[in-house]
Amino acid sequence: TIGMIALDSQGHIAGGTSTNGARNKIPGRVGDSPIPGSGAYVDKFVGGAAATGDGDVMMRFLPALVAVEGMRAGLSPHKAAEMAIYRVAQYYPDFMGAVVALNMKGEYGAACHGIDHFPYSVASRETDVVEVKTTSCV
Ligand code: ASP
Repeated sequence: TIGMIALDSQGHIAGGTSTNGARNKIPGRVGDSPIPGSGAYVDKFVGGAAATGDGDVMMRFLPALVAVEGMRAGLSPHKAAEMAIYRVAQYYPDFMGAVVALNMKGEYGAACHGIDHFPYSVASRETDVVEVKTTSCV
């Protein structure tokens, strides 16, 4: 899955997902990616988040919504993403997945589980480059 959260210079925020057709393209399956709150979620007053990983597990916990609600409660994007990941791991300790989060100040973070580390990309008008960041998984 490619999950993306974009914040423009006027404070408009949007999220989107594009997911794989290789491993999970089973006829009739609706994965987590197109489901708001699961694959991605944004709130114009808070920020946005997007998730990737074991969709059939993760979609039960709406991790993108959980991360946004974490930011609403005052958590940093990184901590909010971690909270969403911990929520899934509490029930499915073997799941593999990651969440990226961005708040309305342009602060971002990510968290992951079931792999060693998770690379994600950050682009901003200020730097005019795409940086690849890496977060260690919990
Ligand atoms: N979450 C996707 C799915 O289960 C897979 C992925 O993130 O690569 O459909």
